[in-house]
Amino acid sequence: MTLVWTSSKFRTTPDLELFRSGGAAGTIGSVTDLLTRLRHQGWRLTSQRRAVAEVLAGEHVHLTADEVHARAVRVLPEISRATVYNTLGELVALGEVREVSLEGRAKRYDPNSDVDHHHLVCTSCGLILDVPVADGAIGGLPTGARHGFEVDHVEVTYRGTCPGCAARPT
Ligand SMILES: [Zn+2]
Ligand SMILES: [Zn+2]
Repeated sequence: MTLVWTSSKFRTTPDLELFRSGGAAGTIGSVTDLLTRLRHQGWRLTSQRRAVAEVLAGEHVHLTADEVHARAVRVLPEISRATVYNTLGELVALGEVREVSLEGRAKRYDPNSDVDHHHLVCTSCGLILDVPVADGAIGGLPTGARHGFEVDHVEVTYRGTCPGCAARPT
């Protein structure tokens, strides 16, 4: 499997080495840049849509709508909050951006929609990282406990303390 990583202007994470190391436990699959996927879909890239898509470039990106707006304004000062909200809604409807709801927090937008992944969340600083789906995650729920459901999807949030917070004196 080939890993393709694109650089993000907005966020760098030292933990990426963890994913680059490869192997069954460290691979989340091939990540295709959101803009590239949208071009392939033939999505009309107006300057507003491009600004929003560019903000959502990179890996481990999980931004609230307000954060997307604040960053989009830096490249396109006239872009309105309503346009950003509408564009995010369109991207979610297209299936190119995933909504991530973590309890007690504002909904976040995740461009890493083409690869199933779970999230690792720091309960101290709120850092959110993408992690691979463990094999057999769905199978981990025994048939007898499924109440007749056909289970096709599982979302897991691993919570804990990131290395940065763990190293910080309290
Ligand atoms: Zn942290
Ligand atoms: Zn994610």
